[in-house]
Amino acid sequence: MTRGLRLLVIGKQGSGKGTLCTSFSQHFGIPHISTGDALRSAVAQQTKVGLEAKSYMDVGKLVPDELVMRIVDELFVANDLLNRGFLFDGFPRTTHQADLLDALIAPEGIDAVIDLEVATDIVVERLSSRRVCTNPECGAIYSLSAPPKVKWICDLCGSPVSQRQDDTVEKILQRLADYEEMTAPLISRYETAGKLVRVEAKGTPDEVFSLALGQLVARAIVPEVSST
Ligand code: ADP
Ligand code: ZN
Repeated sequence: MTRGLRLLVIGKQGSGKGTLCTSFSQHFGIPHISTGDALRSAVAQQTKVGLEAKSYMDVGKLVPDELVMRIVDELFVANDLLNRGFLFDGFPRTTHQADLLDALIAPEGIDAVIDLEVATDIVVERLSSRRVCTNPECGAIYSLSAPPKVKWICDLCGSPVSQRQDDTVEKILQRLADYEEMTAPLISRYETAGKLVRVEAKGTPDEVFSLALGQLVARAIVPEVSST
C-alpha cells in the first residue's frame, strides 16, 4: 500500500479518542485530525466558519454538517490526507458526514474504525476532571489527577492549561445525548461494512494503546512490527 493508513476513531466524548490518536499518530507517522480542535481554532481565529460554529459549540451541540465539511475539505487539501492517510478524531459524527467522507475517499475507502467503548459514568467523571492545553496547535490533555509538572502550564509547549468551556456537567450531558442519537448509529454501519474494531477503553492510555494496536495487528490492518 503506497498511501498512508486511513483510520477513524469513534467513541463517546471522554472515551480517549484524542489521547489514542496522539499516540497512534506518532507510532504510524500519519496525521491526527481532530475536527473539534480544527473548529476551536477557527473560532479563535474568528474565521467565517468559526463565527458560525461558535453558537453551537458554546452550548455543546453538534455543528451543522455543512460547516464541518467545509473544515474537513480544507484539512484534506492542506494535509494531503488522500496520500498521507489520516486518523480522524471526532469525525464523522453523523450518517450524512460518513456518506460525504466515503465520497471523498472513494474508491478505496477507510482501513478500519476503532470504537472506544467505555461506560457513561466513567466518561462524565473523566470529562469533568479534564484540563487541556489552550494552544490549539498543541492540545495536550491533562486532568486533575494527572496535571502538568509545573502548575497548569503545558509540559509540551508552555501555554496555560485550563478547563474546556463545554466540559461542564450540563454540556457534557448534552454532548453525550447527541452522541447516542447521531453518532452511535455509525457503529452498526461500520460493523456491517466489516471495518469495526471494538476496543475496551476503561484502562490507562498505555493499556488502550496496546489493546487497539493488538487488534489492528490481529486483523492484518497493520504489520506486526511497525517500521516507525
Ligand atoms: P467532544 O469530546 O465533545 O466530542 P471535540 O473536541 O471532538 O469534543 O468537539 C468539540 C465540539 O466541536 C463538539 O461538541 C461539536 O460542537 C463540534 N464538533 C467537532 N467535531 C464535529 C463533527 N464531526 N460534527 C459536528 N460537530 C463537531
Ligand atoms: Zn501545550
